[in-house]
Amino acid sequence: MNTEQRIVVLGAGYTGMLAALRLARRTRNRNVRITLVNPSPRFTERLRMHQIAAGQELADYRIPDILTGTGIEFVQGSATSIDPAAKHVVVDNTTTLPYDKLVYALGSSTDTSIVAGAADHAWTLNDPRLAHQFAERLNVVAAQGGTVVVCGGGLTGIEAATEIADSHPELHVTLISAGAPGAMMGDKARAYLNRALDRLGITRQLGRISKVLPDAVELSTGELIPADLTLWTAGVRVAPLAAQAGIETDANGLIVVDATLRSVSHPDIHAIGDAAAVRFAWGRLHGTCQSGMPTAAYTADTIARQLRGKQSKPFRFGYFHQPVSLGRGDAVIQFTKSDDTPGRWYLTGRLATFYKESVSSSPVPTFRMSRRINVPVKLRAGTPATARS
Ligand SMILES: Cc1cc2nc3c(=O)[nH]c(=O)nc-3n(C[C@H](O)[C@H](O)[C@H](O)COP(=O)(O)OP(=O)(O)OC[C@H]3O[C@@H](n4cnc5c(N)ncnc54)[C@H](O)[C@@H]3O)c2cc1C
Repeated sequence: MNTEQRIVVLGAGYTGMLAALRLARRTRNRNVRITLVNPSPRFTERLRMHQIAAGQELADYRIPDILTGTGIEFVQGSATSIDPAAKHVVVDNTTTLPYDKLVYALGSSTDTSIVAGAADHAWTLNDPRLAHQFAERLNVVAAQGGTVVVCGGGLTGIEAATEIADSHPELHVTLISAGAPGAMMGDKARAYLNRALDRLGITRQLGRISKVLPDAVELSTGELIPADLTLWTAGVRVAPLAAQAGIETDANGLIVVDATLRSVSHPDIHAIGDAAAVRFAWGRLHGTCQSGMPTAAYTADTIARQLRGKQSKPFRFGYFHQPVSLGRGDAVIQFTKSDDTPGRWYLTGRLATFYKESVSSSPVPTFRMSRRINVPVKLRAGTPATARS
């Protein structure tokens, strides 16, 4: 291969980082230029965003440092548009990056547009800067013995509520959810979770939220839950970039991919992580690091194979676990079947805390090792992706 192949990776989160690093290694003797685009030079550990919100300082991982020695070019900025016909990306409305292959790894964020007032009056864990500001406000509210309301009883809401209650025992913490918190877990793991919520003094409120007000959350029944601070963790939205570019997306804006994770409308675009609509016979992947990292490793391997003129097998994946921290000294891990339904086994307490911490801290060492070796990232082979969403 004599002509240089230009590969642009958009987003240096968990999946974009891994895809770029693994690709650099897989193509190291070939004429390939890899460019990684991200708004911040700091790697965001999204798995730990609730820890920032509770006031903890995280390690400062610099993306250019992690890329050292790989030959990957780092461009700091936000992709503002994609032109799939001209095959280029525009960064910050100024810099044009042509590509032969594009890896779309822009992730997702919680959706504050689904309920009136959430965007104006609720905080989110979407951005480390906001999470830090939330932590500062939390200190003020805690000093007054005030109330924090966490909206959403999914894993992020549970982790946030327990982290806040654990670090600020003087606060009143209320967790509002439409269904029982931890509904995705088996009975025993959920019973453990409920005992932990009780131990931390977290009030559970079941109900549909109709409005977020400056000092309260309103339920569809009209009931008002007082809140000095509101944290929103429900719903998922993705960047509109793909849809705006005419790349086929599903109703939620995720790129529709084939069984090899390539866009069905633009096969030179590979979508990974939270931004990809990956289908299996049992349903669609939901955004997790657990599933995102394998999509990144698979895509790096697939592109490297394509450059060597080889065929790719369909992406295979099966879920393995639901690891949930319950503050700093407790956790519950529900092991699952491939389709993420709960299995028989679960872990709790110190063993689970160690397990969860190992999961949260594994990506950065994986990135570093990926510079030198092909790190296996699949925990379980699972079923193959289907051809279309
Ligand atoms: C508090 C919390 C706890 C979680 N815990 C778990 C867990 O225990 N286990 C688990 O499996 N998952 C967990 N998740 C989910 C997990 O974090 C995501 O599924 C994962 O981050 C997805 O990786 P990604 O690479 O697709 O997106 P991200 O990691 O979000 O990365 C996207 C990157 O794209 C960048 N970007 C965005 N827009 C642009 C643009 N226009 N141009 C360039 N770059 C852009 C962003 O800055 C970011 O760096 C948790 C999420 C949260 C919020």
